[in-house]
Amino acid sequence: MNSVLKRARSLPICAIIKATFERTATWFVERGVKVDSMLRAGHQYTKEINAIIRKNQQQVGMCQVRRYSKENNEFQVQEMFSPHDHRLPISFTVRLNDWWCDCGHFQALRLPCHHVITVCSFSHIDLTSYIHPVYSL
Ligand SMILES: [Zn+2]
Repeated sequence: MNSVLKRARSLPICAIIKATFERTATWFVERGVKVDSMLRAGHQYTKEINAIIRKNQQQVGMCQVRRYSKENNEFQVQEMFSPHDHRLPISFTVRLNDWWCDCGHFQALRLPCHHVITVCSFSHIDLTSYIHPVYSL
């Protein structure tokens, strides 16, 4: 958005308003065309969101569900010790009903972290259920 408005800063106020309106309108049309083509290609999310999910999925092999409670959908996920990573295994609590993980990424971004993806895989839950609708195209 900053690049759209970049050259308008040095203009008089009426010209800034007019330039902002025209450039923003053009930008929305361009974004609309881009999103429309992605939807027609069958995409549900932007490539940036898909890249984040893919990166988190690659870390699932380092995690294991240790305990879970069916009543409140609460899971204990343990990160496995890696010989390259000199720290002890850490356990994280994931509460799917509350969109909560101890790592903080899940509730901050409203995107599943690798702990949540581990839980979804363990429970055979579609992980797209835990991608906030704001990220949909
Ligand atoms: Zn997490």
